Amino acid sequence: MKVVKFGGSSLSSGTQIKKVFDIILSDPQRRIIVVSAPGKRFDEDRKVTDLLIDCGIHMRESGQANHQIRLILNRYASIIDELVMDPTMIDDFEAQLLQTLKVNHLPIEKYLDAIKACGEDLNARLIASYFNQRGVKASYVNPLSAGLYVSDEPGNAQVLNESYDNLFKLREYSGILVFPGFFGYTKDKEVVTFSRSGSDITGSILANGVKASMYENFTDVDAVYSVNPTVVEKPKEIRELTYREMRELSYAGFSVFHEEALIPAFKAGIPVNVKNTNNPNAPGTKIVSNRQHTNGPVIGIASDKGFCSIFVSKYLMNREIGFGRKLLQILEENGVSYEHIPSGIDDITVILREDLLDANKETVIIDRINKELDVDDVRVEHGLALIMIVGEGMRHSVGTTARASKALSDVGINIEMINQGSSEVSIMFGIKAIDEHKAVNALYQEFFSPSLIGANV
Ligand code: ASP
Repeated sequence: MKVVKFGGSSLSSGTQIKKVFDIILSDPQRRIIVVSAPGKRFDEDRKVTDLLIDCGIHMRESGQANHQIRLILNRYASIIDELVMDPTMIDDFEAQLLQTLKVNHLPIEKYLDAIKACGEDLNARLIASYFNQRGVKASYVNPLSAGLYVSDEPGNAQVLNESYDNLFKLREYSGILVFPGFFGYTKDKEVVTFSRSGSDITGSILANGVKASMYENFTDVDAVYSVNPTVVEKPKEIRELTYREMRELSYAGFSVFHEEALIPAFKAGIPVNVKNTNNPNAPGTKIVSNRQHTNGPVIGIASDKGFCSIFVSKYLMNREIGFGRKLLQILEENGVSYEHIPSGIDDITVILREDLLDANKETVIIDRINKELDVDDVRVEHGLALIMIVGEGMRHSVGTTARASKALSDVGINIEMINQGSSEVSIMFGIKAIDEHKAVNALYQEFFSPSLIGANV
């Protein structure tokens, strides 16, 4: 049995939903469909989830949101119309949306979660009903009745372990099941969503729960590319990569597949196949536990901006027991998580996501580091980008760092810091954000230029 998830762009219109229908019918193993809310039909379009957020905020602030409600219902109405379905379905959708908008005792985050979830929920109902209209037995599944329980963290839910056993029972149903992505229920039966783009997570949880043979994730690109295609023209497609490689890449900007979505599939060893709804015969990219190491040490190059570093130095830091803990505790007490901590004998650099550190927090943290840790120097540097070169093959090949740093120095880029985890799956370079694209291009040329592919197996 395969679990098949379709993203928002695959469900943005009637035309797209017809493609989904054909894809599902072309393989009898495709039994469970996980759906997103309708996404963008063209660049300037808006995702239904974003319309729902606007709508919820309006409702809370002004007690009405007629315009926003219309925009949302129009999206579904146009799909219903295009698919020549029963037009009265939109009345049920309106009733469900209005009912959700009326519940005003909830704190704002939870209120918005309930509203956001309508996007996926209504779409799942619509798609199940479309399959039935086309003579294919399909049922909408409510995540509460299926027992998909999550933690009480609005906008950032985590699946509760007991859900997996509950979901296993879905194997007993005949016909196709259409499951709304993006949300689950707390033990108090309240709707809570995963983080944005979280339908990928739902699909992975279901694949684990029903012990699927494969989790297919349909989106709008032919494959996961070895580098961001908006930075390098026509980059090489990745046919196969490991969970760990995917995790490293999605950490730094590869957004094809949600980084949290890997965990449930990985735990159950279920291969993930990223495929294109608009070109379903293309092989896509498989994410697996182990792969053959061909094509050199590097499988992908990822990059992301928006980082800053706190550099701290103190003579004899290496001998001071508890220095690192005290430093990180200051961050913890200010609600700041860190990304990396490269260090030397007398210095340590903490790399953070810049949006976690507003000017106020920065002053408080720097003051505390100065006073409490009695350091020689503490400095914050903004505007950093991280570039990751990723590949399990690095473990078996010598000189990858040398090649990467030479490629960067050849184009005049200064490496602000470098970090290689002991797992040797990735090497991270911290550079100035303005050099990001130049650096990615230089590294791509070094590791993927056609004359070199295969040279370092
Ligand atoms: N519709 C949700 C979002 O836009 C979840 C998803 O599409 O995966 O974030």
